[in-house]
Amino acid sequence: MRNRSIARRTFLRHSAAGVALGTAGKTVLAGGPTANSLQRQGQPFALSITRADVLVVGGGTAGCIAAIQAGRAGASTVLLEQGSQLGGMLTTGGVAFPGLFHAWGRQIIAGIGWELVSECVALDGARLPDFSQPPSRHWHHQIMVNPFLYALLAEEKCVQAGVTVLYYEFPWSIAETAEGWCVESVGMGTQRRILCKQVIDCTGGAEVIGLVPLPRLREDERQPGSMLFKCDEVYQPGREQLQAVYVPGADSSTSITRTAANLAGRRAILEKIRGRRLTHLQPEAAVRESCRILGHVVISHADYCSGRLFDDAVCFAFYPVDLHTREGVTPRPLAQGVVPSVPLRALIPKNSRNILAAGRSVSSDRLADSGLRVQACCMAMGQAAGAAAALAAHRDTTPLKLPVQEIRALLKKHGAIVPGDQGNRGRKSIDGGHGISN
Ligand SMILES: Cc1cc2nc3c(=O)[nH]c(=O)nc-3n(C[C@H](O)[C@H](O)[C@H](O)COP(=O)(O)OP(=O)(O)OC[C@H]3O[C@@H](n4cnc5c(N)ncnc54)[C@H](O)[C@@H]3O)c2cc1C
Repeated sequence: MRNRSIARRTFLRHSAAGVALGTAGKTVLAGGPTANSLQRQGQPFALSITRADVLVVGGGTAGCIAAIQAGRAGASTVLLEQGSQLGGMLTTGGVAFPGLFHAWGRQIIAGIGWELVSECVALDGARLPDFSQPPSRHWHHQIMVNPFLYALLAEEKCVQAGVTVLYYEFPWSIAETAEGWCVESVGMGTQRRILCKQVIDCTGGAEVIGLVPLPRLREDERQPGSMLFKCDEVYQPGREQLQAVYVPGADSSTSITRTAANLAGRRAILEKIRGRRLTHLQPEAAVRESCRILGHVVISHADYCSGRLFDDAVCFAFYPVDLHTREGVTPRPLAQGVVPSVPLRALIPKNSRNILAAGRSVSSDRLADSGLRVQACCMAMGQAAGAAAALAAHRDTTPLKLPVQEIRALLKKHGAIVPGDQGNRGRKSIDGGHGISN
């Protein structure tokens, strides 16, 4: 509440300054003070005002897919990313081996994430694994992706979908308005007010949900992060996985915790590589766990392991239960035939309107999240959130009030595999190729 009233006061003060409203991504300074005169008045930077149907915060694994889906569905969409490129964990974190799109000889996740991954593999001259048979080890079906190429393609697809991409910015306040949200963001030399109908939080740790503030789930002890690198031999992107050191306690919540994770990760690598040749180092530590939302449904370990098909399921998931500790990890594969699902209600914080979250912050208990957090599932959740937000903005309603069949229909139109079609458990025909068929 305190945050909201501060944001409201700030909003009124800035409105009175005479800064005119712009359309999505456009900055208009009209009739009021110029950027220079604002600086003279003690304001450090000109205030940009941006309007959008959908604001996606975080352009990572889930976020860039959410933004592309919202943009392709006709919503004016802004994507705010605090870093310098899209892809998040897949690119900046170096975890360039997304999984799992297939389960038990069927494809269970497709859509925009699959389109990006399969196009990236094709453009890189590589081959997809043979998905026709369940593998002896789950990672045989993870897909090696060239992370540099993935970042380029993700950006190109966002731009083609009409998404306004804003790098180096992050929100510092969010307040409800009659139309949706007023989000204040800052970046180097930039302060911006974004007036939007729907927000999708894809920050990994539900950072925007925390700003509202809405309750989040957080464990006392979290899984370790990892810092990825390569030494002695030259890194072959898209052909191999990087080496990694664990970073115990790695936490993406604040600039302070992120700094600590990067310092610890780099220190550990330096200790390891002295006397050897360092040929590749990711720019930041990759974080496995921080906060999750408290949604209308909390997906439990039992839901996940039994493959519960929720009434409002919007996508499937598939991965072993995969909880890392300081000592390592022993993945616990799902029982034969089990394919978990993700309900829309797990993407919507309790007691909220017009806000969703997608990615590893999905509403779930810790063990369920250790499987749900993998990239194919994050992409599918991102696409589902993008579709729901675009539809809700179009109808001037909140995502929870949308008939789930309409969200599914929109997702199907955009290539996704959706649960609910007469017990649909994925597509049977697996060609290992790059085409997407409905
Ligand atoms: C070491 C490691 C190994 C893994 N191995 C695998 C694997 O083998 N296969 C697999 O599929 N998955 C794997 N995962 C899991 C998977 O990579 C992640 O859980 C998943 O990518 C998370 O996606 P996300 O979209 O939720 O978050 P991210 O991809 O982390 O994206 C979050 C984005 O939001 C941005 N952001 C954060 N806060 C803000 C803010 N306040 N304002 C603006 N932008 C913000 C970040 O810069 C980032 O770009 C692994 C994870 C780790 C850490």
